[in-house]
Amino acid sequence: VDIGQVLREHTREIPDFPKPGIAFKDLTPLFADAPAFQQVVDDIAERFRGRVDAVAGVEARGFIIGPPVALALGLPFVAVRKAGKLPGETLSQEYDLEYGSATIEISTDAVDAGDRVLVIDDVLATGGTAAAACALLERTGAKVTGIQMLMELAFLHGRDALGERDVHVLVSVD
Ligand code: IMP
Repeated sequence: VDIGQVLREHTREIPDFPKPGIAFKDLTPLFADAPAFQQVVDDIAERFRGRVDAVAGVEARGFIIGPPVALALGLPFVAVRKAGKLPGETLSQEYDLEYGSATIEISTDAVDAGDRVLVIDDVLATGGTAAAACALLERTGAKVTGIQMLMELAFLHGRDALGERDVHVLVSVD
């Protein structure tokens, strides 16, 4: 199967969401189609099998894609959450948005130093969110072995924010 084609056929574009002028890529049709979603999960899991110790998903849609990949690999799932949601001791990372800033967090015991982590989210836009998630995980001594996004908005050059890290996308949109 052409996994990029599967994804393209299960993406819809919502004009002017969440703001006027933004064409939002909505992956809801993928999550609604179990065979297609399974193909995507299998594709990602096979790419990283044997090379990672944990799968981290970024709130919120990384919480949809990350857990089935983690289960397929028999690995722990690590929740990278928006600030203020996690109980217990946390590590925080602030990052810049177009207007203002945001903060994400992980539990301090979510990963161990030396763990190889796969970071998953749905869409790579400016790369700020993914870069912050990687920085947060790396501060614990973990290594980000790979970053897997379903879709990349290439015109925003999000890869530039991710340095030398190994970035994989199923579809790149110009
Ligand atoms: P970035 O930090 O600019 O790369 O934005 C990435 C974050 O915004 C991710 O968590 C995405 O879920 C979300 N995002 C940005 N653009 C889109 C889109 O067109 N569709 C779905 N999510 C998006």
